[in-house]
Amino acid sequence: MLADSYGRVATDLRVSLTDRCNLRCTYCMPPEGLEWLPKPELLDDDELLRLISIGVTRLGITEIRFTGGEPLLRRGLPGIIAGTTDLHPRPRTALTTNGIGLARTAPALAEAGLDRVNVSLDTLDPEVFEQLARRRRLDDVLSGLAAAAEAGLTPVKVNTVLMRGVNEDSAPALLRFCIDRGYELRFIEQMPLDAQHGWRRDTMITAEEIFDLLEPDFDLQTTDAKNRGSAPAELFHVRGENFPDGRAATVGIIGSVTRPFCGTCDRVRLTADGQIRNCLFAREESDLRAPLREGAGDAEIAERWIAAMAGKLPGHGIDDPSFLQPTRPMSAIGG
Ligand code: SAM
Ligand code: SF4
Repeated sequence: MLADSYGRVATDLRVSLTDRCNLRCTYCMPPEGLEWLPKPELLDDDELLRLISIGVTRLGITEIRFTGGEPLLRRGLPGIIAGTTDLHPRPRTALTTNGIGLARTAPALAEAGLDRVNVSLDTLDPEVFEQLARRRRLDDVLSGLAAAAEAGLTPVKVNTVLMRGVNEDSAPALLRFCIDRGYELRFIEQMPLDAQHGWRRDTMITAEEIFDLLEPDFDLQTTDAKNRGSAPAELFHVRGENFPDGRAATVGIIGSVTRPFCGTCDRVRLTADGQIRNCLFAREESDLRAPLREGAGDAEIAERWIAAMAGKLPGHGIDDPSFLQPTRPMSAIGG
């Protein structure tokens, strides 16, 4: 088991498939992009599948989420998904993507065994999209979303980050759009994980504000917090609204900063260059690539992975005066 010294057990593995991206969201990357990891440092598909297999068959991982950077840019993605879903016990699989290219690839990903997707979408206004993502690709994202639903990658979830003075007005329209199409919308508080270090505690839009932005248009009723488990989203029922399939409509608000859920965290991360991070905000990583390439056996790699989890801190400490942003930005860690 991947247990830490606070009694938490990691069962949810987030795998970053690349640090590259075809968008430049302002809360994530600078306009010029980043210095990408050199190819020889990246795990190849076989190395990646070996580590995933060790996680699933020896260490109790039951859920794999592929992310990045933009995971759809990884050429071997269908094969990686197929290799993962062939494992016993079969883990659940999900993909977090900006949706560009999904219109074309969704059927193949479903065929390979992918269970569901989260698509990031911060606005429905093409101009605001371009301002935020620095690319004019809104239509690609919308067609990607529709293709994912069509391919049965459900429930399709939508992730939204609100930026003050940029897209906060988009919140009610996004919820309307998602309810009408059966997509489950989750707002995520902006976190200090951008490469440019532009995040400010005093200007970020809080979970409470997100609730207030939706309230004039929707009647939100909190669901039973006791059932939240390790899920980070605080889930609300949207009273009087149903998804097209008849389920009661919901919206999630993830207060990563103001309502941290570190106490029930069940996540562990593997970067595209083979480093284990026991927390998004960890300042240290544990290298599994070197032992892997030096011929270590599965048992030794599993031991190193277990050791990497033991030092997981109780919380991210964003509100501590001593907080230091991790050296790697979100796009290189795997969001
Ligand atoms: N490129 C893919 C995408 O955008 O969905 C996957 C990687 S991205 C880093 C994963 C998620 O992290 C996205 O939903 C994105 O909106 C979110 N994200 C990126 N930077 C963030 C930040 N500083 N604070 C909160 N969420 C962030
Ligand atoms: Fe790319 Fe995702 Fe970062 Fe946007 S949030 S720049 S889509 S990695």
